[in-house]
Amino acid sequence: MSDGIAMPEADRCAFCDYLSGARPYVFVDRNSVVAVAVTLEQRGRAHLLVLPVGHFATLMDIPNGVTGPLMRALRGAAIAIASAEKPEGIAVWQNNGLAAAQQIPHLHFHVAGTLPGGGTDFGPVPEISLDQAREIAQRLAPFLDLTASEGTAQS
Ligand SMILES: [Zn+2]
Repeated sequence: MSDGIAMPEADRCAFCDYLSGARPYVFVDRNSVVAVAVTLEQRGRAHLLVLPVGHFATLMDIPNGVTGPLMRALRGAAIAIASAEKPEGIAVWQNNGLAAAQQIPHLHFHVAGTLPGGGTDFGPVPEISLDQAREIAQRLAPFLDLTASEGTAQS
């Protein structure tokens, strides 16, 4: 479905490795269909990633059964950020294809609370440690429960 869209090359999918536990990463919550993770490139306060557990390259590739759980997880991530961080705004963005600056070929949405003074940081940001990511996850986890959207996926 993403014919004509040039995708980043990857021998292995980093997000699939994170989801399987092959490489360490910090998840705030997950169910059988979707997961919410703390990105190590924090461009907002806080900045989460919402992604399907199954490997789908772009937004155009996901089956209908994933769209509902994904949208509910997006809303849940935004509510968790709003509740824990109380930012003035929340930005959501998602990129499809190299031309749109997609870096990992596994669909993911960015959900970020705005920084003090407004906006998010699209310049170079320092990578936080896994321990720092765990602290963010611990702050947000009480406000996020993906089990409510479990078991509703149909492909
Ligand atoms: Zn993947």
